[in-house]
Amino acid sequence: MPAHPVIAVVGSGPIGSAYARVLLEELPDARVVMFEAGPQLTPRPGASVRNIADPEAKALARQKSQGPQSGALRASLGIPEGVVVEGMFTARQGTHLLDFGGEGSAHAAQFPAAAAATNVGGQGAHWTCAIPRPAFSEKIPFIDDDEWEELVEAAEGLLHHQAAAFADSPIGGAIRTLLDREFGAVLPDGYGVGTLPVAGDPQPDGSMVWAGADMVLGPLIEAGTDEASRFELRDLTLVRRIEHEGGVVSGVTVEDLRTGQTSFVAADLVVVAADAFRSPQLLWASGIRPAALGRYLTEHHVVITTIALDADRMGGLVTDEQLESELARRSLHAADPVAAVNRIPFSEPDHPYSLQVMYAENPPFQLDPSDPQAGNRWGYVNMGYGVRKHPRVEDGVTFSDEEVDYRGFPNFTIEYELTDAENAEISAATARLRRAGAALGAFVAPPRLLPNGSSLHYMGTMRMGTVDDGTSVADPWSRVWSFDNLVVGGNALIPTANTMNPTLTSVAIAVRGARAAAARLRAEE
Ligand code: FAD
Repeated sequence: MPAHPVIAVVGSGPIGSAYARVLLEELPDARVVMFEAGPQLTPRPGASVRNIADPEAKALARQKSQGPQSGALRASLGIPEGVVVEGMFTARQGTHLLDFGGEGSAHAAQFPAAAAATNVGGQGAHWTCAIPRPAFSEKIPFIDDDEWEELVEAAEGLLHHQAAAFADSPIGGAIRTLLDREFGAVLPDGYGVGTLPVAGDPQPDGSMVWAGADMVLGPLIEAGTDEASRFELRDLTLVRRIEHEGGVVSGVTVEDLRTGQTSFVAADLVVVAADAFRSPQLLWASGIRPAALGRYLTEHHVVITTIALDADRMGGLVTDEQLESELARRSLHAADPVAAVNRIPFSEPDHPYSLQVMYAENPPFQLDPSDPQAGNRWGYVNMGYGVRKHPRVEDGVTFSDEEVDYRGFPNFTIEYELTDAENAEISAATARLRRAGAALGAFVAPPRLLPNGSSLHYMGTMRMGTVDDGTSVADPWSRVWSFDNLVVGGNALIPTANTMNPTLTSVAIAVRGARAAAARLRAEE
């Protein structure tokens, strides 16, 4: 092993953070330098902005993450802050569309809601924190079950997994009972209606401190620890290029976005975890172009609805006293609307979908006060089915050697189409959503399919595989084929068709990749 190996990590989201943590714990003499293109939002690096109580501070943190669509660039497009123009797609708060319509925008007409976050903690500063495990064919076929169980437990530890958050909420319990009455009989054992596992620390008052990359980094950002002395996070620092020769990476060329200065940072190992579009873009820009790079793009399609919970049905299961005490508890945490999280997981062969059910006191949009469902004392659920997309080489991103994007990287175009089989599963999931909604109450918003890209869970563009046959970018330990010391991480590695939130899976894959990379560095001794 080099006496004091230096590891460069590109991207500060949950996956880059998992690599940094595991590598520093495995290699007591190593140093990690993490590069992040966006700004640090919170005093504790990578914390979830959902934990910010002050609404103005929360809005500012989100705006700072929104890259080209906020601030000066948005103004240059003639769109004042806060204004949504008809026909324009908007990104979820804290994220920015890749195809934002201005100069240097990506081209994503077939995947219009594709978005990213550019900030310390990445999308992990904005995420919902749902961390279900993959099941049946969603799992990585070439990692055996015993190893997978250990990896996923390690990932759950890094993410501060909670199996039963809000499990004591009587309303959450009543929602589960009603859904179970509707669907329970036909769901297999172990895959019925239940609570949705989430990432964070429950507090004694019943609220949650949601997990961000900060919890994954753990000791790396605690003052006075050995790991902290060997960890450096450089925000507003864009990695421009991975330098390499003959399959060996020597380091990265970075641009300090505060000064515009470019410099080279030597590294013994480079880990690229810069999301499912910008990681392959960086590889492409660096002349690393395996045939599968950017291809096999998948997400899970989302059919959603909002329901006003029915007073009679809920009242049959929850006493008035319980409702009042739940409302009193909720009023302590007005800034964090989610009060119970439930789900029906993916199972095969009969339930190839994931249902996610979030209970909140208010609907996610303003209801006209004259609407009969406005001000519903029992509250609302926002729920949606995730529906899978099967990997195909035709779906994916192509990069241009002629046109550059707003960051000066090869611009890209996303090509993507749903097949008849996928449309059929979307129709079946929509029918189920109607049943689920009718079981719980009245429709405030009818079931609808969100535009492609809305899941924010983009997979497959740097998929892992067992052989270097042109259908994968990385080996089973996440190392880029034909490279000694270049590792990739993130949802882009997932080679399967998935219906659920992928971050837990990607952290588990990262734990495996980091341990293998540490073993290789040790073997070089
Ligand atoms: P990211 O978190 O996207 O981080 C990548 C980072 O790399 C970014 O900060 C980016 O600025 C940086 N970067 C890019 N290019 C460069 C470069 N050249 N140089 C330096 N830095 C660079 N997932 C779930 O599993 N469950 C959920 O409930 C869930 N809910 C979500 C809700 C929302 C609103 C959002 C936005 C996402 C949600 N996700 C959820 C997705 C989840 O956040 C991502 O799966 C996760 O953050 C991916 O981690 P990552 O580290 O691979 O990438």
